Amino acid sequence: MTDYARPLPKITSETMPFWEGCKSHELRIQRCASCARFRFPPQKMCRHCNSLEANWDSVSGEGTVYSFTVPSQPSPGELAARGFDYPFAVVLVELDGTGGVRIASNIVECSIEDIEIGMPVEVTFERVTDEVVLPKFRPA
Ligand SMILES: [Zn+2]
Repeated sequence: MTDYARPLPKITSETMPFWEGCKSHELRIQRCASCARFRFPPQKMCRHCNSLEANWDSVSGEGTVYSFTVPSQPSPGELAARGFDYPFAVVLVELDGTGGVRIASNIVECSIEDIEIGMPVEVTFERVTDEVVLPKFRPA
């Protein structure tokens, strides 16, 4: 049992290396073993070269805010009932050194008013259950 009320990711055999990396405080991104392009989210086949072979590379976790939003739906009361501290921001972070991989997450240690597109951020990890550690981002 957990007292974490927010939705949890569904961990599959395909995404397991990503989540195992998070548990080790490493941001691991799937990378094509043939053409070396990163694949995110993880996929069985490379969309560039159709290779089925892949590796997992640890990346720095540094990046920039590509975009962000502050959800207002459903209502703040319903968001609170689902475990969200309202208001909160959903950020899309473009990871450095990945050829443009963008990951959706939350920003921490930063007020919503201070979030800017293009601001440098770095990954940090939040353990929410025994099985799930989430990557989040903070100002760098
Ligand atoms: Zn490829």
